[in-house]
Amino acid sequence: MGNETVYLNGQYLPLANAKISVMDRGFLFGDGVYEVIPAYFGKLFRLDDHLERLDNSLKSIRLQNPHSHEQWRNLLTPLLKKDLDQSVYLQITRGVAPKRDHAFPQHVTPTVFAMVSGINPHSDPDNGVKALSIEDSRWKLCHTKAITLLANVLLKQAAVDNGCTEAILFKNGYLTEGATSNVFAVIDGVLMTPPKSPAILPGITRDVILEIARKNNIPCSEQAIPMDELRKASEIWITSSTREIIPVVDLDDEKIGDGKPGALWKSLYKLFQEYKLSLR
Ligand code: PMP
Repeated sequence: MGNETVYLNGQYLPLANAKISVMDRGFLFGDGVYEVIPAYFGKLFRLDDHLERLDNSLKSIRLQNPHSHEQWRNLLTPLLKKDLDQSVYLQITRGVAPKRDHAFPQHVTPTVFAMVSGINPHSDPDNGVKALSIEDSRWKLCHTKAITLLANVLLKQAAVDNGCTEAILFKNGYLTEGATSNVFAVIDGVLMTPPKSPAILPGITRDVILEIARKNNIPCSEQAIPMDELRKASEIWITSSTREIIPVVDLDDEKIGDGKPGALWKSLYKLFQEYKLSLR
């Protein structure tokens, strides 16, 4: 375990010294929410969007935000290394209860934890990744960024066991998202992604891509995508804060397009990098 500095309940301390009680409801019930926020050149990216999503996640589990947005910015900034690309992980659980009881404890203080790690976005223009399609076995609150991730863990592991980078999930024959990402497809020249609903996490990267595409007059649409349409897509991408936009070139051992990252991915990748630089 490294000596990097993390934040726990009001203190900055080495990771190895950061300890919580086994009675923490995050440990016992997965009773908490989290955020992952990229920082480019040492600056937090779309922080307000991430904190707004955190507000929504907390509201959905009926937990009050222990900090204002300004307090969050002040709390997270000291963890960042100057000028580097990193990501911040933050998590809030309902706290440490006197006994294990599913019902909310009274008068409990939430546990607040944050740490920083490196990021490694996909930047190889010649190669993409493989994905496995699999039935979405998750619950009905996928718009909540809950730490309760067992279904996502099992789905992602199924992909890894099949030599794939990501699991692409479907429900009732329609695409939802990836086990750890949102999914875009290029079908008949239109950039498509499923609409926001409780069936998917409203990805911040997803919003940025739609914003950039619209600004550049790239036809795009938020619409339901049947899995048999997805299989015919000329491009598929998975998107997330730590990996940005990754081209999927193989789904269930079938080539997508010509099996190489597509032309629209190349354009969006470039526009995304330009957008990052514009915020420097
Ligand atoms: N969906 C799921 C299930 C995720 O875990 C993530 C993030 N890892 C995303 C979508 C992408 O969200 P964002 O772009 O905000 O990172």
